[in-house]
Amino acid sequence: MPRSKAYPPVPLGAVRPGATIGILGGGQLGRMIAMAAASLGLKSHVFCPDRDAPAYDVSAARTVAAYEDETALAAFAKSVDLVTYEFENVPGPTAAFLAGRVPLRPNAAALATSQDRLVEKSFVAELGIGTAPFRAVDSEQDLVEALHALGAPAILKTRRFGYDGKGQIRIRAGDRAGEIFAHLGGAPAILEGFVKFSKEISVIAARGADGAFAAYDPCLNEHRHGILHRTTLPAGISDALAARAAGAARRIAEALDYIGVIAVEMFVVEGEGGEEVLVNEMAPRVHNSGHWTIEGAETSQFEQHVRAVCGWPLGATAARGRIEMVNLIGDEIETWPAILAEPGAHLHHYGKARARPGRKMGHVTRVMRE
Ligand code: AMP
Repeated sequence: MPRSKAYPPVPLGAVRPGATIGILGGGQLGRMIAMAAASLGLKSHVFCPDRDAPAYDVSAARTVAAYEDETALAAFAKSVDLVTYEFENVPGPTAAFLAGRVPLRPNAAALATSQDRLVEKSFVAELGIGTAPFRAVDSEQDLVEALHALGAPAILKTRRFGYDGKGQIRIRAGDRAGEIFAHLGGAPAILEGFVKFSKEISVIAARGADGAFAAYDPCLNEHRHGILHRTTLPAGISDALAARAAGAARRIAEALDYIGVIAVEMFVVEGEGGEEVLVNEMAPRVHNSGHWTIEGAETSQFEQHVRAVCGWPLGATAARGRIEMVNLIGDEIETWPAILAEPGAHLHHYGKARARPGRKMGHVTRVMRE
């Protein structure tokens, strides 16, 4: 009798190639998740309210509907094996509705924590991880008291829906609290003490369904007009600090029982005992500062995310050299012919029809092998 071949076992609860991943959000992050999923034999179904979202071009199915449309959500849930998302502002009721029907990875707690800066900072601080000093501000009087406690300069940020530096105001000594609070429209806010950082870094990491954890080397981020401009590696920090940064990301992921890729943005500051990291914010998703991993790491953040949410083993995270990733914002996408002509430059064009100022249209990655 021929002996049956011994194939390696599929991890318990894992999906198999051929399965369909549901992706909430159809921007460039969803597009790159779908591309990585396709490489691993999976199909993607993108759910997004925009008619012309860039992720549709590379996915097997699309639903164009509002995130509040329960009929569309129910049909979507039926058509997929699991749901993930490319943005953290997925409405709570949408997440709960889907999580009741199909695995939602990362879970709803990760979304809820990252949607509110006060909840997020309190959660991180309770884990014993450093953050900027902060106070909740719900009124003009709160702002006066918070400014008294933290001093100026400081930054007032809306608790919800802030990204790329939107929904925040820098406060200098002598500024009038009343005018500033009114400027944010009276929305619940958080005041943060101004951090004199030497660097902004981020840790892109993943936690698998089995609790395995893998972090990429921290990367150095430069912003322009509040938008990520350039990410480079190595980040120019000590190995000990890099290990502490990865440790902070790990504690955050474990406390949330997280599955998927997580990004944790941090400030490097000079502490009493040398350099330290303070966590600024986390994103429960793949992240712009992790785009370098596509060509620059053994496993891209997008493949890593797909592996994690599918219940598969995580891939290796080692960097392949010195790396630079530059965003192509607005008209900068028109430099694509020059990038294509540059040996070793990797162009990523998101296929968006219109280049508006401040819109992320693509990126370029350069890997300098050592
Ligand atoms: P955020 O929206 O929190 O990512 O903030 C956008 C940018 O503002 C960060 O990348 C920093 O450059 C700067 N920033 C935010 N919070 C602080 C802070 N507490 N102190 C100094 N700079 C900050």
